[in-house]
Amino acid sequence: MPKVKSKQFQAPKGMRDILPEEQVYWDKFIKSAQRLAEDYGFQKIETPVLEDAELFVRSTGQTTDIVTKQMYTLRTSSHVRLALRPENTPGVLRAYLQDGLVNLPQPVKLYYYGPMFRHEQPQAGRWRQLYQFGLETIGEKASIMDAQIIQFCFHLFRLLGLTKINMHINSIGCQQCRPAYRRALVDYFRHRKNKLCPDCQRRLKENPLRLLDCKEEKCQPIKAQAPATVDYLCDECHRHFKEVLEYLDEMEMPYFLNNALVRGLDYYTKTVFEFFLEENEKYSAIALGGGGRYDDLVKELGGKPTPAVGMALGVDRIVDVMKLTLKVKPTYNPKVFLVELGEMGRRKSLKLFETLHEAGIVTAESFGRDSIKAQLKNADRLGVKLALILGQQEALDGTVIIRDMQSGVQETVPQEKMVDQVKKRLAKN
Ligand code: AMP
Repeated sequence: MPKVKSKQFQAPKGMRDILPEEQVYWDKFIKSAQRLAEDYGFQKIETPVLEDAELFVRSTGQTTDIVTKQMYTLRTSSHVRLALRPENTPGVLRAYLQDGLVNLPQPVKLYYYGPMFRHEQPQAGRWRQLYQFGLETIGEKASIMDAQIIQFCFHLFRLLGLTKINMHINSIGCQQCRPAYRRALVDYFRHRKNKLCPDCQRRLKENPLRLLDCKEEKCQPIKAQAPATVDYLCDECHRHFKEVLEYLDEMEMPYFLNNALVRGLDYYTKTVFEFFLEENEKYSAIALGGGGRYDDLVKELGGKPTPAVGMALGVDRIVDVMKLTLKVKPTYNPKVFLVELGEMGRRKSLKLFETLHEAGIVTAESFGRDSIKAQLKNADRLGVKLALILGQQEALDGTVIIRDMQSGVQETVPQEKMVDQVKKRLAKN
C-alpha cells in the first residue's frame, strides 16, 4: 500500500476554537445577555445557519460588501443557492413571516445568539466565523422602542463591567427624505470624484450612502465636509430622532451625534447607532455592536408594512474586552473529591459519584489514577474540603471514608449515611 503522509489539520482561515479556559467569559456574557433580554420581555428565537442566499441579497442589500464579497454560498444538489448567514436579522424576519408571528400581539420582541459567517480579511477583532447576540422588536414604530434597545445594550455592558462605552448615533431618514439627501451627497462627491479612492468612486455609482463609511485616509477630509443626513430629514424622521435623543438624555445615556454613521447594510431607516470602547487603542476604532431601525424590511420580504428596530452585539469582541477588565471565577467549584482504590472500589465509584451529584454535592475525581497519593494531590490542588475514599474494604463493607482535607482526620461511615454526613461537615465549614 502506498504510504500517505499524515496531515495536521488546521481550522479554516479566520476561524478558531474557543477553548475551555475562555469559556467562562463566553458563559458570563451569554448568561447575562439572555437573562437581561428575558427580563426586558424578549423571547429567544433560533433560525437555521443556512438560508436562501436571495434572502440576504433582498434584505442586507445587493451592493453591500457583506453580500458582494463576504457571503459563503453553496448550491445544493437540486441547485438551490444557499448562504451561511452573514447576519441574523433577515432570518428572524423570514421566520416572523413564515411562522405566523405576524398574527401575535405586536410588537413581537425576539432575541437570538449564534454564529454568523463573513468571508472578510481576517485581522484583529475580525473573524470569518463570528458570534452575535441580537434583539429585534418587530411591529412598533414608536421611538421608545429604539431607546429601549439602546438602554438594553448599556445595561448589559454595565452588568459585564464595561462602563467606558461610547455610542455613536445618527438618523439616515426614510424613503421620503432619503432621495433628496442622496442627491445632495452625490452632487457633493461628484465634484470631488478624482480625489476619492477607487472603492468610493464605485460607491458613488452603486451606493452613495456608503461613501460615508470609507476608512481610507485620503477620503477623510472630503467626507468631513459632506452634507449631513440630519439636515435633510422629513418632519416625521426629525421628530422621531429628537424623541430618541430625549429618551437617551432622560436616562443619562451618553452619545455622540455622528453624521457619517450610515452602517454597512441597506435596510436601515431613521435611527442607526454603534458602540465603541472608550480610550482603547484597538476597540475605539472597531465597533462592539450596532443596530438601528428597519421600517421597510418586512414589506421588502413580502409582508405588510411593519416597522421594526434591532441591534447585534459582536460577542467575540465583547469577550475580548471583558478579559481586559473582568476577573471571572470558574463555575466549576467542587467541594468534595472522590478517591477510589482497587478493583471493587473503582467498580462502585461511579454509582457513588451519581448519588453525590443527585444530592447536589459537586464532586471531583481523577478516575483512572491508581495511587491514593496522586488522587489526594489532585484533591488538594482543587482546594476541596473533604475527600471520600472508597477502597476494596469499604466497597465490600458498604462504607466510605470521609477525610477532612485540612486536619487529615478520617472517619468511616456507612454509604447510606454518606450524603447526610458530607452535608453536615460542609455546613460546619
Ligand atoms: P454589523 O451589524 O455588521 O455592524 O455587526 C454587528 C457587530 O458584530 C459589530 O459591531 C461587531 O462587533 C461584530 N462583527 C461584525 N463583523 C465581525 C467580524 N468579522 N468579526 C468579529 N465581530 C464582528
